[in-house]
Amino acid sequence: MVILIKNGTVVRSTGRRRADVLIRDGIIARIAPGIDAAADRVIDAEGCCIFAGFIDTHTHFDLDLGVTVTADNFETGTKAAIVGGTTAVLDFATQDRGMTMHDALDLWHKKAEKSSCNYGFHMAVSEWNDARKAEVDDMFRAGVSSFKMYMVYDAMKVTDGQIYDAQKFIAERGGVIGVHCENCDVLQARIAEEKAKGHLDPTAHPITRPQAVEAEGVARLMRIAELSGAPAWVVHLSTADGLNEVRAARKRGVEVYAETCPQYITLDVSQYAEPDGAKYVMSPPLREARDRAALLNGMQRGEIDFIGTDHCSFTMAQKAMGRDDFTKIPNGGAGVQNRAELVYTFAVCPGHITLEQMALLLSERAAKLFGMYPKKGVLRTGSDADVVIFDPNAKRTISWKTNLHACDNSPYEGIEVRGSVRDVILNGEQVVENGRLIAPYRGQYVFRNPCERYRK
Ligand SMILES: [Zn+2]
Repeated sequence: MVILIKNGTVVRSTGRRRADVLIRDGIIARIAPGIDAAADRVIDAEGCCIFAGFIDTHTHFDLDLGVTVTADNFETGTKAAIVGGTTAVLDFATQDRGMTMHDALDLWHKKAEKSSCNYGFHMAVSEWNDARKAEVDDMFRAGVSSFKMYMVYDAMKVTDGQIYDAQKFIAERGGVIGVHCENCDVLQARIAEEKAKGHLDPTAHPITRPQAVEAEGVARLMRIAELSGAPAWVVHLSTADGLNEVRAARKRGVEVYAETCPQYITLDVSQYAEPDGAKYVMSPPLREARDRAALLNGMQRGEIDFIGTDHCSFTMAQKAMGRDDFTKIPNGGAGVQNRAELVYTFAVCPGHITLEQMALLLSERAAKLFGMYPKKGVLRTGSDADVVIFDPNAKRTISWKTNLHACDNSPYEGIEVRGSVRDVILNGEQVVENGRLIAPYRGQYVFRNPCERYRK
């Protein structure tokens, strides 16, 4: 199969130029102006930007919280992902207590069978002991080089000492651990305070987890990494104060990778007061203008490494489980389809970042850290043909009704975005045409190498 993309502007982190892209048998064969070659399919990309396929570093599909299961599984979630230009998701395979990492990995491979974009797994671990440590080498052999630990959630949280030990152990093997940073004890005390006041609606949620709750967790993680000598990855960074802790740690020589999410550069804490405020209940919560400004500035200055959606969707009926108690609202929201257009609209259009930085934030750095570069994350000869054709002049309004995910709400409902993913090539095959998914279920497992620690 040969595809020729004509007349577009190829955007890479190092610059942009008008060039054609020739794809042969799943690989990028050539990038040059005016390619004249026989092709099975010719795509005219006049007026469009051509990016390496976008990588979402943070999704939760088919995650069982015990009380309920996420609205999206891999089948629905990856359909939404691919039409939004995400050619690979890194989902969190989750080792619940009492199960092994091998069990979790097998289970996630089964869950992901009907995927419409490529997929890899981080391994989220709820226990850290000799039995789990004995499994780590097998995870690397199975293509999993990144892990996750939580400072919060009773079912998942580990101790600071376990994070310290795991960081050392996994870094020696070429991996990195993402950590959900919040101060668990303090936020639980604040939940008790709000409940005692009878404050039980969604507006209580951000009060229980203010900026300092995250910043304290980030500061602690930074010191733990300073002591372990290992790299740290802060997942879903949401605050100016947290970003300041990352900066301070880097000044001390700590190797830190920072991920943020579209919701933290686009939405606002005031939205919890809306009638459907429950749909914004996620952790960390939505923040304030100063946080959005700081994160956008951090993106501009290259301090933020990549952008994952933390897609973890629930229907309004599921969200209603917490009608009388905000702590019973399942945490999370849908975002996997809208990441590129939100970043373009809120970060590129106002001039915070360039198109080149968009390529870096949505694809290249994730591919590097998570062991997929240069097969993925960059457009160059020999790379995998995962390609996005992005129309910067398109305009549309986000709605859950037109999004392909399976939940009946979107935190971005009604937001007008500029720029839209027009066509997507996955593994050398056109799977999205004019915004429509024409070839579902073409996703393949991405075996990942050890992390490329580019901040070392
Ligand atoms: Zn998450």
